[in-house]
Amino acid sequence: MSSSAYAPAPESTRPTIRNEYGLFIGGKWVAPQSARYDASIDPAREQAIARVAYGDADDIARALRSARKAYERWWEPMKPASRAKYIYRIARAITERSREIAVLESMDGGKPIREARDFDIPTAASHFFYHAGWADKLEWVARAGRAPRALGVCGAIVPWNFPLLMAAWKIAPALACGNTVILKPAETTPLTALLLAQIAQDADLPPGVLNVVTGDGATGAALVAQGDLDKLAFTGSTEVGREIARAVAGRKTRLTLELGGKAAHILFADAPLDQAIEGVVRGIYFNQGHVCCAGSRLLVEESILDEVVDRLQQRIDRLRLGDPLDKNTDIGAINSRAQLERIDELVRSGVEQGATLRQQRCDLPERGYFYRASFFTNVESSHRIAREEIFGPILAVMSFRTPEEAIEKANDTPYGLSAGVWTERGSKNMAVAQQLKAGVVWCNTFNRFDPSSPFGGFRESGFGREGGIHGLREYLA
Ligand code: NAD
Repeated sequence: MSSSAYAPAPESTRPTIRNEYGLFIGGKWVAPQSARYDASIDPAREQAIARVAYGDADDIARALRSARKAYERWWEPMKPASRAKYIYRIARAITERSREIAVLESMDGGKPIREARDFDIPTAASHFFYHAGWADKLEWVARAGRAPRALGVCGAIVPWNFPLLMAAWKIAPALACGNTVILKPAETTPLTALLLAQIAQDADLPPGVLNVVTGDGATGAALVAQGDLDKLAFTGSTEVGREIARAVAGRKTRLTLELGGKAAHILFADAPLDQAIEGVVRGIYFNQGHVCCAGSRLLVEESILDEVVDRLQQRIDRLRLGDPLDKNTDIGAINSRAQLERIDELVRSGVEQGATLRQQRCDLPERGYFYRASFFTNVESSHRIAREEIFGPILAVMSFRTPEEAIEKANDTPYGLSAGVWTERGSKNMAVAQQLKAGVVWCNTFNRFDPSSPFGGFRESGFGREGGIHGLREYLA
């Protein structure tokens, strides 16, 4: 069945978008000192949506001054229950404007509107609701014998795959603990962060409590270089994470790094196969595979390998690839031309190294950055597609014979962010899960998130946790 078998179901909501956005500093929209702007592109249409300011070191210094003043004068001295009121207001505003925000997220990043509407925006709102509830109960979070005390000014640098959600993961706990924030969104997806700034302004959040300085890697590097930051929370690639760790070493700045991943998804022969195939599809093709914890290495017990491969091909042929703003779309646009080229380069390396490529059989739209849902068979553990993070809709399928072999192959990666196990036997599931070197292990499901559940990795996937009590502690002294 091809995507053309479905009548179009275009999203009708149209968000209000300005032609040009300045920086949000000290509760006001200001022009960047750098005087530099660049366009944010709709990757499905290859069209500019709006011009966005690129902040420089002076802009970052200005944001830092305003965040420091807000911390000392208003936010930290405020009664925790009053702080909670502001965070609840932001949560409610996100919920009330959720459709508009979802459309903007989909336009700016290329993700299917169905995912932005049903996952990104409600989950972002739930992080604000959850953390608002904690603001006046932090004595239950602080380590034994310590009073809960904020850190000060926090820098937050986020990537383009879940722009609003990654911002919420950092801003909500930071504010709940009494810190102020400077957010640096990714250059390809700044628009929902700017809408969040607008929401904060409408919520009368005291000026300087949340500052949004848009820009590229240079803007991020300028934020990292600010020795006066009390905390830096970074989500992004392992390479940049390494640079940041080097820059921050020896300073007072507390650091958490949420980096890349290459998750193993283990499928035993006794797994409930219908559900498991859906879990595998959700695990890798959700958000076009632009997911740090994507299940990008599928390890299948040898006796069911052929059946799994056939069923996967059938299933990806039924995915609908196309306009992200169509409510039927399963696979939207790749976030940028640069990312499309990176995916293409890694896929070609897989073919050259001898793996067999299988792809979704469908037409691609004439415009925009699109890539078919794909998977490789005949993959060796040494192939680049089995080792490097592709960050696209590409799955590497490998097989195993015993649980020990599955565990060994799963752990044969420098990353340690997430993993998944499918088997009908609970004891086997638990036994295998405990031996996987990953921060999160999903059992008979995949890619499930909740604000109360800590998330994070170790080894090359970073350190520190976001979400739950563990995440809150990262924002307390
Ligand atoms: P990236 O590292 O290139 O960029 C991330 C952010 O850092 C962007 O805002 C960017 O402008 C900024 N940046 C770039 N260079 C910088 C520098 N030298 N100093 C400071 N900031 C800098 O990553 P990306 O391509 O935007 O995102 C994809 C990566 O993010 C993937 O590796 C993915 O696995 C990872 N990720 C991890 C998690 C997690 O929770 N572990 C979640 C989402 C994405």
